[in-house]
Amino acid sequence: MDLARFPRRRYSQGATPIELLRRFSAELAATCPGGAGPEVWIKRDDMLGLTPGGNKTRKLEFLVAEALAQGCDTLVTCGAPQSNHCRTTLSAAVKEGLKCQFVIEERVPGSFSDGAGGNHFLFRLMGVEDLTVVPAGTDMAGAMDRVAGVLRSRGRKPYVIPGGGSNALGGLGYVDCAAELQRQSHEIGHGFDGVVLGSGSSGTHGGLLAGFLALGIETPIIGVGVSRDPQDQTPLVRREAQAVCDLLGLGIDVSADAVRCIGGYWQPKYSLPNPMMIEAVRLLARTEAILLDPVYTGKAMAGLIGLARQGFWKPRDRILFLHTGGLPSLFAYQDVVLKG
Ligand SMILES: *Cc1c(COP(=O)(O)O)cnc(C)c1O
Repeated sequence: MDLARFPRRRYSQGATPIELLRRFSAELAATCPGGAGPEVWIKRDDMLGLTPGGNKTRKLEFLVAEALAQGCDTLVTCGAPQSNHCRTTLSAAVKEGLKCQFVIEERVPGSFSDGAGGNHFLFRLMGVEDLTVVPAGTDMAGAMDRVAGVLRSRGRKPYVIPGGGSNALGGLGYVDCAAELQRQSHEIGHGFDGVVLGSGSSGTHGGLLAGFLALGIETPIIGVGVSRDPQDQTPLVRREAQAVCDLLGLGIDVSADAVRCIGGYWQPKYSLPNPMMIEAVRLLARTEAILLDPVYTGKAMAGLIGLARQGFWKPRDRILFLHTGGLPSLFAYQDVVLKG
């Protein structure tokens, strides 16, 4: 496997830390069968570069490098009103001296507000050039093509990045993360019995899985759906992992059983809170002073807590939670998280 043949920009320094969550694991164990639970570790991809980090940074290192290689002057992407992906793409654009435009899908009707805080505030602070709001269910690829068409007609050179940065090229960011994790496991002196992460547009889950397959890492990856139950999420992750393997020319066939997803933690709807998410956000904040977000990592950690309480892992199994970021949107949900 040779990642070096793909152009890449660097937005982070060094590997993200891996930490043992000693106090969190103890509190969790007290609520698990027989009072014993897994040892939970965390990989701090919330501390990646760009403003203020998160999983999109790894994907953008490859995507923006291609945009620059093509001589583009504007990044066009899409997301929800509190999109971490849009904010991180804008941050990369600012750093590179590019312009940036978004198509925002109002997935929850009425949820877009120009005065909103969180990521939306950062869109305005970092100076998004333009933002088009479209209703739920809009063909987002088509909507971004229209924006790109308008830019081209004005002599500009847009580069369109799909939702979540999840295509084969973006997925390489998590192939690189797999290699980073393998090196760190070697340094720490042990591997992990499972990795748990939030699974959305699937570039993170699919890219990491492709990396594990390429490197022969047998640790199961469990994706907690943030907007879909397994029957819909699994094929998406499988397609992404396959596309990444094909781009790398690995000759690997990704089987459906290589992809593990769980559902039941994202309801009632993508981005809307539930009590399990609130418990997870509070528990990690109050045992480790690490902040999760309400849309992705709060629900993903709720999935980890739920599996542990079902006795899914053996006591003392080492489980690694991938913290994919999302901090700014926590500040758009203050009342929910404190009062819930
Ligand atoms: C986008 C995002 C995810 C989901 O990652 P995908 O690659 O889209 O599956 C998880 N956590 C956070 C904080 C995100 O912003």
